[in-house]
Amino acid sequence: MRALIRDDMTQRRKRGSNLWVTHEVDRTEGATAQAANIAAAKSLAETVRTTLGPNGMDKMIIGSNGTVIVTNDGASILDRMDVTDPTAKMLVETAQSQNNAVGDGSTTAVTLMGALLEAAEDLLEMGVHPTTIIEGYRKAGEVALDRLQAETIDVDPTDEAELRRIGATAVTGKWDNESARYLSELAVRGLSEIAGGDAVDVRNMTLQSVPGGSLRDSTLLDGLSIDVGSSSTSIEVFAPHLPDTYESATVALLDAELTIEKADAVANTTVSDPSQLRDLQSYEESVRIEAVQKLADLGVDVVFCQKSIDDEIRSRLARAGILAIERTRQDEINKLAHVTDAALERSVDALSPATVGQAPHIERRTVGSTELVIISTAISGAHVSFLLRGGTEHVAEETKRVLKDCIAVIQLALQGQAVVPGGGAIELSLAYHLNSYASQVGTREQLAIEAFADALETVPATLAASAGCDPVDTLIDLRARHHQGEMTVGVDVTNGTLADMRTKDVLEPLAVKQYAIRNALEGATMILRVDDVIAAEQTTNSHGHDHDHDHDHTGLQHTEGYPWAIGH
Ligand code: ADP
Ligand code: MG
Repeated sequence: MRALIRDDMTQRRKRGSNLWVTHEVDRTEGATAQAANIAAAKSLAETVRTTLGPNGMDKMIIGSNGTVIVTNDGASILDRMDVTDPTAKMLVETAQSQNNAVGDGSTTAVTLMGALLEAAEDLLEMGVHPTTIIEGYRKAGEVALDRLQAETIDVDPTDEAELRRIGATAVTGKWDNESARYLSELAVRGLSEIAGGDAVDVRNMTLQSVPGGSLRDSTLLDGLSIDVGSSSTSIEVFAPHLPDTYESATVALLDAELTIEKADAVANTTVSDPSQLRDLQSYEESVRIEAVQKLADLGVDVVFCQKSIDDEIRSRLARAGILAIERTRQDEINKLAHVTDAALERSVDALSPATVGQAPHIERRTVGSTELVIISTAISGAHVSFLLRGGTEHVAEETKRVLKDCIAVIQLALQGQAVVPGGGAIELSLAYHLNSYASQVGTREQLAIEAFADALETVPATLAASAGCDPVDTLIDLRARHHQGEMTVGVDVTNGTLADMRTKDVLEPLAVKQYAIRNALEGATMILRVDDVIAAEQTTNSHGHDHDHDHDHTGLQHTEGYPWAIGH
């Protein structure tokens, strides 16, 4: 068994003390602790469960700063909820790890984890020991994962229509079906443009959310798109001098501020008479002229600078027809270096014909209210950029996130080249298999294996309920069909009947299900192992329990892992 100790206790240990401070703590032990932990995780899982599938309901999340986000995605919901209960946090972690690993299936993982805990609760009440449940679950997980492998359907990686349908299955429910198809088509098109066999290098892909327009205005660009609106650069001020496009463009990348270097000696100079001031000014001017001249001599058309560029220099560059972009992000600089074959230099002096890069075509374009610079590549398809649109910044961001998931899933299908039937078909099939396996076990673990099977059935049951069907009747019908050997029959959520998911093209990558089962099992097991909850006194240091959140740009909170979970 393990104890769960809240974070300020852990902090003390981190600081090198071997002494556990156990005074002034609330402590819950044994069955009470277990019951409380299960209840907390279960209730959160229940909230997320109802979003499962294309007909799943949306949740509205209201941030502490009043921002409202409506989403259907399990991972985003949990990520944005301000969860403080330590066990509920484990559930959040399960969703995050699922999302990070495969980009889809987080609602399924959370639903399964909740169902495993609920089933465990009944077994605990019947007097089954937690370790028996854990062992039974472990065996069931192994058998289910083995069986999963046996029920895969091969994918032809050259069949783009099939890939589009796999991508669409992953994102249906986030939007209407048409939009899901549109996004999936965009993903497949982008991937096929940069694909080198099945090894797609995602570094050759840029995803950019651009507020304004609707999802269907999202497009794919051949080349690298840099959002210059997000930097503090205002090109417009200098725009009259600058062309909109550059052909056979030369690109320079700089890692230093493009400004007058103020050596200490210069900064401390006391200017006592007008002639000295003139000297200083003319010195500064000559430095600026030199920098601009150097860039012009090298034939540079566009200079990207990681740091800031002095206004005076920018204006001089603009007059020389050179587009200067400051505060370019590190990841963008890396992509620029890759796409143009330029080297990042620390100063203008260090630039040379060998270290500047080339692009066949560079274009400034305004999309919505965002200013973009699009750099084409010498080899078509060497880099693609997705411009993802949405009415507001949040919607555009959400579109970007969903496309990311869609791409991840298609890539999985490309790499693993195997899928499993969705719509609860695979879960029912695994449950069916586990029940027959359980009957051969013959110990108390059998009960846990059957409970695992019941938990898997929550997926088709939830999908049925969301389609307005009676979940119990649906499960009975489904079991009958699977008993007749129709292992790919699942819930057709569009008309609330049963259908072969293969013919309906509801297919999901094998890896999504593998991870969902593994993550749910791990999360549930971890909670079941805890029989002791010790809440240490609240300390006033800034690392206290209330501070283990990061604020992201949305102003909402990200949850972190569970630094307070330790073994004993
Ligand atoms: P997750 O976060 O687990 O991916 P989703 O809300 O995306 O959750 O729902 C996924 C579930 O919905 C999977 O079981 C999948 O097979 C099912 N599903 C997706 N599209 C369909 C469909 N058209 N018909 C039936 N089930 C579907
Ligand atoms: Mg999904």
